[in-house]
Amino acid sequence: MAKFPGIKGLFFDENLLIKQGSRGVTGISIPDCGLSGPVLKKKENAYINKKYIRNIRPKLPEVSEPAVVRHFTRLSSWNMCIDSTFYPLGSCTMKYNPKINEKIASLDNIKNLHPLTPVQAIQPILKIIHDFNEILCELTGLAEFSFAPQAGAAGEFAGLKIIKKYFDLKGESRKIILVPDSSHGTNPASSVLAGFTPVEIKTGTGGILSAGEVEKAISEDVAGIMITNPNTFGVFEKDIRNIAEIMHKNGSFVYMDGANFNAFVGNVRVSDMGIDLIQLNLHKTFSTPHGGGGPGSGALGVIETLKEYLPVPYVGLSGKGGHNSGKNKGNNEKNSNRRLYELTEDKKYSIGRLAPFLCNFAVVARAYAYLLSLGKDNIGSVSELAVLNANYVKKKLREILSGSDPFEEGLCMHECVFNDKAIEENGLSTVEFAKLLIDYGFHPPTVYFPKNIHGAIMIEPTETESVSTLDDFINAVKEIRFKAKKSKAERSPQKTKVGRVNEVLANKHPIFKY
Ligand SMILES: *Cc1c(COP(=O)(O)O)cnc(C)c1O
Repeated sequence: MAKFPGIKGLFFDENLLIKQGSRGVTGISIPDCGLSGPVLKKKENAYINKKYIRNIRPKLPEVSEPAVVRHFTRLSSWNMCIDSTFYPLGSCTMKYNPKINEKIASLDNIKNLHPLTPVQAIQPILKIIHDFNEILCELTGLAEFSFAPQAGAAGEFAGLKIIKKYFDLKGESRKIILVPDSSHGTNPASSVLAGFTPVEIKTGTGGILSAGEVEKAISEDVAGIMITNPNTFGVFEKDIRNIAEIMHKNGSFVYMDGANFNAFVGNVRVSDMGIDLIQLNLHKTFSTPHGGGGPGSGALGVIETLKEYLPVPYVGLSGKGGHNSGKNKGNNEKNSNRRLYELTEDKKYSIGRLAPFLCNFAVVARAYAYLLSLGKDNIGSVSELAVLNANYVKKKLREILSGSDPFEEGLCMHECVFNDKAIEENGLSTVEFAKLLIDYGFHPPTVYFPKNIHGAIMIEPTETESVSTLDDFINAVKEIRFKAKKSKAERSPQKTKVGRVNEVLANKHPIFKY
């Protein structure tokens, strides 16, 4: 038996689909409809402006069904993916996605959902969103969630827009959002997009932001702080409550980037930390395949004070105080058991629409399925296992990569980070280490992030991996650390279909046409 998954198997050469076809080939056959050509009375240009009428055939692939199936199946085998390998990217939560979630998301009534279907016909869909909101409120202690933001960063943007509007309506022009140097890159970016100026504050030893540093940076111009907890070093911000107190005393808000929610979900409520707003990356914490920037949902939760600022529309329940649209049907019925879920827009200070329709529902449905399949009693084990797995990797790798753990004392949360000191001793750079891992059959961890850790290697195992997978990965790191030759590392990966690529070239000279 091979020690590591490695990469072997069949790799085929593959032409572009457009080059595989030939004129007139189709993938389907439809019975003859009995009509002979167009039955227009006049020429087309009598109906349509001439400039819109095509006079050359569109350049579309004309291929058979087997050609298409083989093409995409072959292409998929060139890629490392979560269904074939351990995918320890840090700061991303690339967890294995149970297939039951996919099954739910591909049910006909979900897959074929038309965004303009009248609410009476999509009551179960609206119920899912309504109930999911309640679950998230319970897990966080916040007052209400909006599912409109379609990515984590979109949730951040929406949250900051809310803060902006809150102060605008109060007639205060606070400009600053404090952002610790441990924050995710999207945090300062969202601040700028929402019209604020991000001001960086330094984390101290151990990668933790101290209340003292926040105190130094506080002023009347500060609208809020954006804090990721656990932060991007995988360390819990122990001073969070003191920090929140300083902010609240100053009339400012505490925004938490909740992309790392899987580190404490079910065990701690963010409301107890003093958080006012949070986005939960449903596509990370609650599974959903999201490699390559695929569809997401950055559900945004807020405290009571900010409920009226959330994006519209939202799902309300007719005849229920607070969620009432005022357009109740059957209002005079005494028996109000038959309440309708509604799409309502009656939020007094809403920042407006963020999504063309309600939300990225297929992602919400997957996340909801993940939560329900675990159940209320087990949801806490997600964070317990995620933290346990990360600390297992941290402890084992600390022995192998000696002197490379910048946060040696103490435990990590859901992810751990190493610098390149140990691998440099056998002449390897972080990128070479990462590329070598591919030949052992593992997707590389996140590298060179966080920026302030030299040659950073950041690993998030997640709760879905078994100890034997983690051991295989740890053994691969061990072999690389003690046996890898520079000459081989420079040329790795060598077992893949496509070897080492020039990563700069594609950025500098993008080619969008074949
Ligand atoms: C992934 C991530 C984000 C951004 O989320 P997207 O869904 O990719 O927009 C923000 N903050 C942290 C800490 C993250 O890990």
